[in-house]
Amino acid sequence: MFHSIATTADPTALDDLFDQTHDDILSLPMSNDSIHLKGGIAPIPGFSNLEYGRESSASSVHYGDSHDTSEPSTGREREGSTPGAFINGYGSNYTPSPLQHPFTPNSTINGITSIQKTSLSHLNGDIPHTSINGSDANTHPSLKDHRGNTAFMAGTPQSLGRDSHASSTPELPQSLEQPKKHRRTNSLPAKGKVTEMKANSSVPTDLSWAEFGRQCILAAENSRLNPFTLHPAEYKLLREHVTHAQVTIYLNIRNAILRLWHRNPLVYVSLEEAAGCARDKRYFGLARVAHLWLLRNGYINFGCVELPNTTGSLPKSKAKVTPRRTIIVVGAGMSGLGCARHLDGLFAQLGDQLTDAGELPPKIIILEARPRVGGRVYSHPFLSQTGSTLPPGYRCTAEMGAQIVTGFEHGNPMNAIIRGQLGIPYHGLRDNTILYDYDGTVVERGQDILVEKLYNDVLERAAVYRNKPAAHRTVEGDRNLMAFGRDPTDAGGSTVAELENSDAPLSANATSTASTKQEKPTTGVEKLAGRAYQLSAGFNPDITAAETVQSMGWKLKIDASNTQSLDLDTIAKSSEFPTLGQTMDEGLRQYQNLVDLKPRDMRLLSWHHANLEYANAVSVNQLSLSGWDQDIGNEFEGEHSEVIGGYQQVPRGLWQCPSKLDVRFNTPIKAVHYNTEEQQIGKAVRVECSNGEVYEADQIVITTPLGVLKSGSITFQPPLPDWKQDAIERMGFGLLNKIVLVYERAFWETDRDMFGLLNEAEHEASMRPEDYSAKRGRFYLFWNCIKTSGKPVLVALMAGDAAHYAEATSDDQLIKEVTDRLDAMFAPNDVPLPSETIVTRWKRDPFARGSYSYVGPKTQTGDYDVMARPHGPLHFAGEATCGTHPATVHGAYLSGLRVAAEVAETFIGPIKIPSPLVEKRVMKAELSSMNANVETKRRFEPAVPPQRDNKSGRVQRDEDYEAAIIGAILDQIGERPIKPGRAGVNPFLLYTKDFWYICKQECEDAHKAKTGNSEAKAPKQEIRNAVGLRWRTAAQEVKQPYLDQASNARDDATANAADFRERVATWDEEAARIRREYIQANPPEGGNEELILNSRTAIELGAGKRLRRL
Ligand SMILES: Cc1cc2nc3c(=O)[nH]c(=O)nc-3n(C[C@H](O)[C@H](O)[C@H](O)COP(=O)(O)OP(=O)(O)OC[C@H]3O[C@@H](n4cnc5c(N)ncnc54)[C@H](O)[C@@H]3O)c2cc1C
Repeated sequence: MFHSIATTADPTALDDLFDQTHDDILSLPMSNDSIHLKGGIAPIPGFSNLEYGRESSASSVHYGDSHDTSEPSTGREREGSTPGAFINGYGSNYTPSPLQHPFTPNSTINGITSIQKTSLSHLNGDIPHTSINGSDANTHPSLKDHRGNTAFMAGTPQSLGRDSHASSTPELPQSLEQPKKHRRTNSLPAKGKVTEMKANSSVPTDLSWAEFGRQCILAAENSRLNPFTLHPAEYKLLREHVTHAQVTIYLNIRNAILRLWHRNPLVYVSLEEAAGCARDKRYFGLARVAHLWLLRNGYINFGCVELPNTTGSLPKSKAKVTPRRTIIVVGAGMSGLGCARHLDGLFAQLGDQLTDAGELPPKIIILEARPRVGGRVYSHPFLSQTGSTLPPGYRCTAEMGAQIVTGFEHGNPMNAIIRGQLGIPYHGLRDNTILYDYDGTVVERGQDILVEKLYNDVLERAAVYRNKPAAHRTVEGDRNLMAFGRDPTDAGGSTVAELENSDAPLSANATSTASTKQEKPTTGVEKLAGRAYQLSAGFNPDITAAETVQSMGWKLKIDASNTQSLDLDTIAKSSEFPTLGQTMDEGLRQYQNLVDLKPRDMRLLSWHHANLEYANAVSVNQLSLSGWDQDIGNEFEGEHSEVIGGYQQVPRGLWQCPSKLDVRFNTPIKAVHYNTEEQQIGKAVRVECSNGEVYEADQIVITTPLGVLKSGSITFQPPLPDWKQDAIERMGFGLLNKIVLVYERAFWETDRDMFGLLNEAEHEASMRPEDYSAKRGRFYLFWNCIKTSGKPVLVALMAGDAAHYAEATSDDQLIKEVTDRLDAMFAPNDVPLPSETIVTRWKRDPFARGSYSYVGPKTQTGDYDVMARPHGPLHFAGEATCGTHPATVHGAYLSGLRVAAEVAETFIGPIKIPSPLVEKRVMKAELSSMNANVETKRRFEPAVPPQRDNKSGRVQRDEDYEAAIIGAILDQIGERPIKPGRAGVNPFLLYTKDFWYICKQECEDAHKAKTGNSEAKAPKQEIRNAVGLRWRTAAQEVKQPYLDQASNARDDATANAADFRERVATWDEEAARIRREYIQANPPEGGNEELILNSRTAIELGAGKRLRRL
């Protein structure tokens, strides 16, 4: 007999009592003291992040955060960062994480065995109990950490008796745990502390410009920003204040700030560090705006990082009478916690603006219906924690909801949080899936590939009906300069807005909306699935389906002709709301006329449908044809991973680190009364909760799932406006369910992370695609979770219609079915009965009502943005408000950041741009008179005289003085000569240049003759092959001129190099002379003539590499 121990039908059953209790250990300090210790994070040898975006780690298991040592330390740069840390370098070494000691029954924390067996039996008796060694955890003195927080409250293991369906299981009264007062460490700058701004101080001295430029560009890409263009919001903010040249300077500063952040997201980026990214103090204004914009919008200083608190205190008289405003966040999922955490950080960093204006930062209260954090990120602990193969301190859990981190690289904010801040171990998924047919036989790999190609072709053909993404107006910087980390000459002139308003032509790139991503081929619908559907941008509708299918390796039917193609137009245009499924099924039907598809091919094709249904949580028959993959192009890169010990560590971290957020558990809201006109503090919003509590607030952030909004279980008074309500109704909210099977021992190949299972049609061996829709998603994929859960665990997915089947079928029936299937797959081996099972039923969960959002046939372009739009004091976050990354953990988190910026703005107003933003260039003649004029001092000018740099022992020279010397050198002799390139030395490339178009013509002629289509084109690869063949078979006399040309080019390059060496030597001599003369004519104030004379400025000699030393 099988027992299922919990279902999401009953939230209390799934809600994990361990969470609120052992979460307290997360208040282990992430103090600035500890994170500034350079030696605190052990370096990992051999992990080179210089190979950007690729991890060289051989193992697929990654422990904790790390900081690469491959890059040398750069003096003043990022004090808190580990030497050598580099963008995205939170790789794979073991670092004690603040989350590494979650509850396990036998774990010992503070020398105390956390849970006694007796407490377990108490709980089985449904008695709420909070006990550690018999003491109340709230009061046990030895459980206080050094901040005075409770270090560990014993988790009361919930009685999840298999038969007892834990609805009667006691919940730990969360209200026992009062939120701690936020205390920030003294080592963070306090309000009023004099700060020092120094141009160039955040620019490394020992990187070439090109390398520095490359790192900055990558940092922007890792922040989901186009390195070369302003974000549309930056564009709006700056267009009236900056010239086109200053756009490049701003972007260089912005990207350099992001580089600092990514080097070590355990340490916030300060304004001083940001200003140090400017090459000249004239640009401190740009640095300030960039810093503010990035931090407000959650591109830097986000997540679990300790931040400086600038909040001052109010005069006593005022403090008493000024009421404090309140923000309510509904939901403690990733979006709610992300929002609240970021708001908390913003009000700490910008709190002085409020206290200066006479009010304290608002209170932030999170109202959560469940007794735990995480929402749809929920790692359910197993009944038995014994025999775990996880590292000590990690508990054995299964993911009820989110499971996969879909790549850490290229902008996933989970990268900074999981790898950079919390140091949670993770397991990189290996791409070694195999597919089992319904009868248990393994599908032959070749057949699998062949069918997948066909499937992708139909998918590509259906993509013709995709909506075009809307372009946003912005302005582009100078890519060439930025690639080399250089600023343009800033000669002033008209602002971007003035140029745009006049008829004067902008530079060619000025209004480009291109992003770096868009230049790449589209990457497909990877989303949550381990398998990717690669949609190549090069789909050529001129190539017939018959030709395509043959080029894949299929044999054309005898009665089919080469000119036959698919007609999807008829089906796509036959309905007002066409779906992807119907269109693709029509494509598959038509393919049956071209090739001899067999029932096994149909099962394979249906398996791919099921995989799409998993990614979208709905049958393909309910996905919009034009918009189902509207987020395409935003996928992250890097291996897909699973968090070891449970994904829920991430929301717990957000809740707890660096200090606890005020979450009120077991507080489902049922009504929101709001007034868009209300001015009185605390009166714009009134929230009624099911437990009778009432909260008043000024702003409210609703993060409840779309399913909850659709259900109407929360009423709004007045009702939501039509534009919002209609979008809620048009959007889709889908379903995915899981069946978790825990075994005593593994009977499958444990080195595979997943394996697929094909399903039979409703009518055996049917060739009709629609006959597969009901069953294709049943147990269609098994995750082998042994590495992440610490036990032999399989998780079977129920996707598409099968997800609904799981909701309506008893646990016993489901477990029997899945065991029968496994029996067939692993015969003749015996498949044992699972010792523990869990079935999720997300649809029945009143606080989810499904799994995640999808684009339904009636969903309109831009509906995700409509979902995100605020209405008066109502703000909306959650995965269904994130059009760029919907249905994901990171999307939910990003929506939280977005809404935090939006809400913060209602308190502190928009970013103010100082006027002028960039000071006029100061000519030498004006300099002396200006020096005398204290009034003209810019606000970021160093208030402290230059200090000695303790680390290097080098004298910190005056930036301005150095800048003046550089200016004099450049004025007189220009830039140092650049090393000449070595172009055109490959004879084949020279040959290709001449023969490309000839070969192209020949290939195209062949295509035209073959297809009868006078417009037929030839694929690039084919032309390349043709050129290669021609070169290989060419006579020696044909090749000789190219070989000679290459040899001459080599000789020229040698001569040029000699010439370069000569010119550079002259330049260096001249530069030294100008430096000498300048020092003589303008002796430096500090009397460091000797040192300054012997140093070099922006251009360092030697090794043909441009180096910088300050
Ligand atoms: C089965 C499944 C598998 C998934 N797999 C992945 C994956 O592999 N990778 C991935 O990136 N994403 C995955 N997702 C999606 C991901 O989990 C979600 O997109 C994300 O967690 C949503 O976060 P959220 O904050 O928007 O919503 P939620 O996490 O749902 O948070 C909303 C919160 O609001 C609370 N709430 C609801 N109603 C009320 C009320 N009336 N009063 C007060 N509080 C209320 C809820 O309890 C909840 O805590 C999966 C989801 C599911 C269900």
